Amino acid sequence: MAPIQTVEAIPVAIDLTEPMHLASETIKQALNLVVKVVDADGVVGWGEAASAPTMTGETLPGMVRAVRDIIGPSLLAVPADDYDSVATVLCSIPGNSGARSAVDIAVLDIFAQRARQPLNEFLGTKRHTILPRIQMINSCAGDAQLAKAGALAEAGFTHFKVKVGQADASLEAAFVRNLRNILGPDPLICADANMAWDVETARQFIAGCDGCDLAYLEQPLGDGCVEDMARLAKSTPVALCLDEGLHAVSDIARYDEVDAAKGVGLKLIKLGGFRETLIAESVARQRGWQTTYASKIAETSIGCAATAHVASLSDNVGWGVSLTHQYLVNDIAATPLVSHGGRTIVPTADGLGVQPDEKRLNSFRLDL
Ligand SMILES: [Mg+2]
Repeated sequence: MAPIQTVEAIPVAIDLTEPMHLASETIKQALNLVVKVVDADGVVGWGEAASAPTMTGETLPGMVRAVRDIIGPSLLAVPADDYDSVATVLCSIPGNSGARSAVDIAVLDIFAQRARQPLNEFLGTKRHTILPRIQMINSCAGDAQLAKAGALAEAGFTHFKVKVGQADASLEAAFVRNLRNILGPDPLICADANMAWDVETARQFIAGCDGCDLAYLEQPLGDGCVEDMARLAKSTPVALCLDEGLHAVSDIARYDEVDAAKGVGLKLIKLGGFRETLIAESVARQRGWQTTYASKIAETSIGCAATAHVASLSDNVGWGVSLTHQYLVNDIAATPLVSHGGRTIVPTADGLGVQPDEKRLNSFRLDL
């Protein structure tokens, strides 16, 4: 590959179609970092990462500075002969996992284009061409969300994640029961408490969901509550899934050694890009865990295409894939991800397979 010539950090702000209520925060606007990398031959690669202070500790201004001052200059000094040498440099930079992830996606976009392969085939063995898309459901929005879920199920959606931890756990369990009644027995329903609960509250919710066939409960307790997660796991048949508690591949072993979880949500921003995320997938499978892939709320088709590529390499996508471009008022992509009903097609063009409309991108650009 020709040497990397420029690494540009482009901060953007894009409104969500409606606020997304999480236990830890309400998100009304995506504050994302888009990265444009150009090599000496003029090949352009694109990447993206949402800023997620409650997950990676990064704010958008900090991500911009990290790319401009640390990550970009370090890549310009690398002889870019192979992806491994670039990934090694990226992985050696401490912290900044979201910013590193955005750059990693853009660099891989170039490598895969030059190899004339879609990004997933450049990285490994593609196992899925179509992915089941998770639809988020706000439990606090009541009947309107139930009606929306019913309509989406009729349109082909099969995976629903209920955001809980915002009200009385018994009421939220009643919402899940109503959702199951509306959806019928087949669609997957899971719940995500985003660290809101203690063990007793989580048990109360799970008991209230008895008979609902809850596929998994994501991050019921706080980041680092390994022993309490183990206590909860012992007392429930519902699989617990790690999300905010994952910061490094080694966290999977830490939770597994005390049987504190049976699955993990993988996001590129949490582990700094593809290399560590693929290792996490492998380690999780070796331990008999399920994985579920997600873009942070909310990323455009650029970030979501990267998530789709890495998910397509997974052994099993039965827990679904959360692709969040659908929640934005405007997707800056000139070639957005294509979905039919609740299924998203993994891009098959060379590289990432998604590029922004640069005029539209600039219209959302922040001056940071
Ligand atoms: Mg989550």
